[in-house]
Amino acid sequence: MAASLRSFPRVITVANQKGGVGKTTTAINLATALAAIGEKVLIVDLDPQGNASTGLGIDRRQRKLSSYEVLLGESTIQQAAIETAVPGLWIVPSTLDLLGVEMEISGASDRVVRLKHALELSDEMNCNFNYVLIDCPPSLNLLTLNSMAAADSVLVPLQCEFFALEGLSQLLHTVEQIKNTINPALVIQGIVLTMYDGRNNLANQVVADVRAHMGDRVYQTVIPRNVRISEAPSHGKPAILYDFKCSGSQAYLQLASEVIQRERRQRQAA
Ligand code: ADP
Ligand code: MG
Repeated sequence: MAASLRSFPRVITVANQKGGVGKTTTAINLATALAAIGEKVLIVDLDPQGNASTGLGIDRRQRKLSSYEVLLGESTIQQAAIETAVPGLWIVPSTLDLLGVEMEISGASDRVVRLKHALELSDEMNCNFNYVLIDCPPSLNLLTLNSMAAADSVLVPLQCEFFALEGLSQLLHTVEQIKNTINPALVIQGIVLTMYDGRNNLANQVVADVRAHMGDRVYQTVIPRNVRISEAPSHGKPAILYDFKCSGSQAYLQLASEVIQRERRQRQAA
């Protein structure tokens, strides 16, 4: 059977099994940038830490239904999705309950396609999201596998540090495995270098190395290290809302336009 891509919504999973590389920051700000140009966007928070939910100002008490209930089949996406303060941006929040989900569904034959099926159901119910971004936990566990099974593409944030490339081959291997089994249409959306500090020679070396190894899979846009980006979550706001003009917000807006261009190309190629 030929691989086929759905036209809409486009599902992008933000994944890297390392923690602290900028997954959540990228998911939140990319989603905000897409919502700002009029797209209807959903973030699915698949990290038990719930940083995307907190960073978008969703209080823990508001999280009555979450990605945990969605994966267990106890809630639909529509029931769990909460509209954020960003017009057009919704989130299925997460709670610490997610820590137990792996054990609860590990015996089920559909354990890897739980999220995929939930998103398909939300399409049938005319949820009309144009983009779904999935914020993954720092692990290649069943949650991340669910995200890859449900996605059209994988966006990989890499921190500009000495060990940036370490672990990337394992991640790419996992993407290949999912592609060869349950999701033949899966592609790499791109690799984004994050927390770049131009004053640091090592960071420049890392950028050059990653580009040499990964070629045009790496976006032109590099996200600078920027204190406004790290302050924004404590205000429950995406950086783009907290300080639109800061270098970090501007870089995420630029990244969004590269992502859109790639999405168009990937859709046409399918
Ligand atoms: P992950 O989701 O991969 O664990 P986060 O997006 O939570 O990573 O980022 C880890 C930490 O680094 C957070 O405290 C975040 O605010 C901060 N951070 C992320 N990107 C930047 C940046 N470009 N500049 C400064 N701080 C950043
Ligand atoms: Mg995170």
